[in-house]
Amino acid sequence: MNLAQYPADKESPRQLLVHTASQQLQIDWHDGERTLIDFAMLRRYCACAWCRKAGLIGHPPPENGTNIQHVNLVGDAGLQFIFADGHNKGFYSWDYLQRIARNEVTVS
Ligand SMILES: [Zn+2]
Repeated sequence: MNLAQYPADKESPRQLLVHTASQQLQIDWHDGERTLIDFAMLRRYCACAWCRKAGLIGHPPPENGTNIQHVNLVGDAGLQFIFADGHNKGFYSWDYLQRIARNEVTVS
């Protein structure tokens, strides 16, 4: 699924692809770097207020709740995912997505 073609802008992706078969989000950045993130990782690091309060960030996501049904662009700032269990509260900035992909997200 090709979601967006951005104008040249270092901060935002050139292309987004949602691989439903392998359950991975692919982000092609303007510098040529390609990022692949498992859906389960996206759910695991959901940083919405609810997940923060419940202490769920970094913990295993609910079973059958990690498949992504829909992706919304949030302006040019990042993405919102709608997971199979209906969870859709998280906002993922481009920077946060890169940190998830690089295993740089620390849980406090
Ligand atoms: Zn959440």
